[in-house]
Amino acid sequence: MSTLLVKNAYIVTMDDHQREIPEGGLFIRDGFIESVGQVADLPATADEILDLKNHIVLPGLVNTHHHFYQTLTRAVPAAQDANLFNWLKTLYPIWARLTPDDIFVSTSTALAELALSGCTTASDHLYLYPNGSKLDDEIAAALAVGLRLQASRGSMSLGESKGGLPPDSVVDSEENILKDSQRLIEQYHDPKPGAMTQIVLAPCSPFSVTSDLMKQSAKLAREYGVHLHTHLAETEDEEQFCLQKFGHRPVGYMQEVDWIGEDVWFAHAVWVNDEEIQIFAKHKCGVAHCPTSNMRLASGIAPIKEYRKAGVNVGLGVDGSASNDGSHLLAEVRQAMLLSRVKEGITGYSLSNDPERKLMTAREAIYLGTRGGAAVLGRKDIGSLEVGKCADFFATDLTRLDYAGAGHDPVAAVIFCQPVRVDYTVVGGKFIVKERQLVTMDERHLTERHNQASKRLLAG
Ligand SMILES: [Zn+2]
Repeated sequence: MSTLLVKNAYIVTMDDHQREIPEGGLFIRDGFIESVGQVADLPATADEILDLKNHIVLPGLVNTHHHFYQTLTRAVPAAQDANLFNWLKTLYPIWARLTPDDIFVSTSTALAELALSGCTTASDHLYLYPNGSKLDDEIAAALAVGLRLQASRGSMSLGESKGGLPPDSVVDSEENILKDSQRLIEQYHDPKPGAMTQIVLAPCSPFSVTSDLMKQSAKLAREYGVHLHTHLAETEDEEQFCLQKFGHRPVGYMQEVDWIGEDVWFAHAVWVNDEEIQIFAKHKCGVAHCPTSNMRLASGIAPIKEYRKAGVNVGLGVDGSASNDGSHLLAEVRQAMLLSRVKEGITGYSLSNDPERKLMTAREAIYLGTRGGAAVLGRKDIGSLEVGKCADFFATDLTRLDYAGAGHDPVAAVIFCQPVRVDYTVVGGKFIVKERQLVTMDERHLTERHNQASKRLLAG
């Protein structure tokens, strides 16, 4: 039994009443929140006391889409100014050189960045396993770092010789993929509240796996009650690919292969029409919105306002670091707010006199990054600071230079002002970041190892 008392902070609960408590606190026991409220109403003592005077405390951010290994291939010259398909074709041969140690190091790096930006739960989509790499390498790294991981067992089975996009050297047989998926679920998936590791099945995209693998993966996932994830409707050329190869638009293709339901979430979902938004809403499919990546690859702007209006669960993702090229989730919350305003601007906002037409607020953007993400991942134990939920939160010092002049609205300051390196990140009551420093990793040593691995990969 261990207890932690957090006190004197500006607490943003993100509960159903959107309660904010100035001079508030949290009382945590064994990794879960036992009480939240005014300091006077909380126990006065605990095993550890954290006085967060002048700090804001928010629920830990939830990252719903990433490819950790891509932190090794940021800003690769030939992929800097390419669209999705050309970007992929440039990078596949480099990724084919990844080793198990590269997976471990890059996972640590991505999670370090995420933790320093307030993230406490991350989904990752690993879809190539060259040179003996396994999802186990990633899971081991995440357990060492201490962030919660939704580890997606990704896959590619449709190589160039069969009409797919990736070279045959990075695809695997469907028999191996399904066997390994089952092994991983049985070995690692923890369905209980407070789980540190959950497994997700995630064939990569319509242009890199067969219809049969999509169907088989859905069947296997449902036998075990694990979730399904894939890239969908990211770009216009993917839409063309699906129409030509499958005779359906991407969402129609998902219906065809039984990939519609509350256990499914899609990365991007930019190129959808009104009818398809209604299909997502009706069947409770989730969307991982990755604004920076969509801008970086000139993919388009996802219809977030329309999704929300229809009742679709939307979370945020930084996406892989070869198309961002960072893992700063708090920055992604800000990007989501700003990009939604760009969309308003190009669809006549300044000429509109409709008082009902509202811009996305800072608090709505935080909702996407917390509650929205938790709903997309199907996790009821995270996403808000409420009694019984995991003690996952982050805190930033409101007296820092970055927020100077915005003290009248601490919540807006965190989103409108420059995204910062957070002061504290806590997962299940354990410190991952303390006083702006990583607790579970040696940052300098990790960066050196990472740069060595990156150099070797690019040298070929
Ligand atoms: Zn992706």
